[in-house]
Amino acid sequence: MWDVLVVGGGPSGLSAALFLARAGLKVLVLDGGHSKIAQVSRVPNYPGLLDEPSGKELLERLKEHARRYGAEIQRGVVKGVRDLGGVFEVETEEGVVEAERLLLCTHKDPTLPSLLGLTRKGVHIETDEAGRTSYPRVYAAGVARGKVPGHAIVSAGDGAYVAIHLISDLRGEPYKDHAT
Ligand SMILES: Cc1cc2nc3c(=O)[nH]c(=O)nc-3n(C[C@H](O)[C@H](O)[C@H](O)COP(=O)(O)OP(=O)(O)OC[C@H]3O[C@@H](n4cnc5c(N)ncnc54)[C@H](O)[C@@H]3O)c2cc1C
Repeated sequence: MWDVLVVGGGPSGLSAALFLARAGLKVLVLDGGHSKIAQVSRVPNYPGLLDEPSGKELLERLKEHARRYGAEIQRGVVKGVRDLGGVFEVETEEGVVEAERLLLCTHKDPTLPSLLGLTRKGVHIETDEAGRTSYPRVYAAGVARGKVPGHAIVSAGDGAYVAIHLISDLRGEPYKDHAT
């Protein structure tokens, strides 16, 4: 049983996974492998990355960072989801995984928003400020929630932002991930 299943392994999903894992949560990222940033041969505007890696290389670095703190990242497309009352049963081509919470970082893919009947605004999932969707225990971040302009660093920041709110919701108090 996963505490949080992050669906989508682009900048938003991988950044969220880092923060969730660092908070001690059991986190699985399932990713279909079609992050928009993978199309780019050079990312010139991700602050701090002066070597301007390719989009694929940036994704590898984000994966390595999330894995360092315990996130598990697997290739897989989510095809179905059932709420068993407190637990989501999520279906992929490889089988079924169970998670207490979902964080959708799925860009504009309509599959999960449709399956869960989420309130949408055009192609985007409607959320409150913190990334909570219309479905309890389901959050959205990055381009998926349409509140951020489409850039890798902004999506990564939004993934972290929503993850911090999710953790705060779980703990019932404001959470901060500050190194000493
Ligand atoms: C041609 C192009 C050039 C760009 N150039 C730049 C640039 O130079 N600099 C910059 O900052 N930004 C650039 N961008 C924008 C940047 O790529 C996006 O803003 C960023 O990738 C959005 O991150 P995200 O995590 O929200 O979504 P994405 O990175 O698109 O990730 C979404 C992930 O969700 C997965 N997914 C969706 N549905 C499912 C499902 N049902 N099950 C499992 N996985 C699923 C997809 O496979 C994908 O991997 C460019 C985009 C394009 C298209």
